[in-house]
Amino acid sequence: MQLGFYVDTEICSGCKACMVSCKDKNDLNVGRNFRRVYEYAGGSCTDNGNGVFSQSVFAYYTSISCNHCDIPACTKACPTGAMHKRPEDGLVMVHDDICIGCSSCAQACPYDAPQLDEARGKMTKCDGCIDRLNAGKQPMCVDSCIHRALDFGPIDELRAKYGDTAEIAPLPSASITKPNLILRVHPDGQPVGSGAGSVVNPNEV
Ligand code: SF4
Ligand code: SF4
Repeated sequence: MQLGFYVDTEICSGCKACMVSCKDKNDLNVGRNFRRVYEYAGGSCTDNGNGVFSQSVFAYYTSISCNHCDIPACTKACPTGAMHKRPEDGLVMVHDDICIGCSSCAQACPYDAPQLDEARGKMTKCDGCIDRLNAGKQPMCVDSCIHRALDFGPIDELRAKYGDTAEIAPLPSASITKPNLILRVHPDGQPVGSGAGSVVNPNEV
């Protein structure tokens, strides 16, 4: 069985309740965010010279945590085996006792999921809220989303419900790590690598 996330970029309003509730649950210090909400925006207004302006302005939000990938770049980069993928549910986790805090996993992950706890010199990341899962609950981010833009569960069931799209700008190509992520693409969603927009909230993610 493999667990994964669904993110609806059409109805996400960018409120960041998911990000903040995750931060609160995991007691994360400033600068460490297991879940991040990227605001991707672009376009422009053009003066048509006849008193009319035309515009191509767009903005949308993508809430991203660890995607517990099928081909995790983080586990391959880890020199100690601390970053590992659990066979029973596909969640990618850190063995705290053997992590040396080298950040190789963080550098390798194209989603910026691993977040170093500098005070302890240990890598930390989304564990799917394993304590909540064991209690029969959904991850904190899913339960705290006011728009119900997030879902979590067995990836086969999520794909049957939502499809299998896993890419949108500014995320990387899904071919790199085969993320267990499903996206509903915003009507203004741009393809991976698009130069049409940029992340306009870099200090928040
Ligand atoms: S999103 Fe990054 S940290 Fe999570 S499994 Fe994939 S490569 Fe590893
Ligand atoms: S920081 Fe820890 S988990 Fe990450 S690569 Fe280094 S030893 Fe592995």
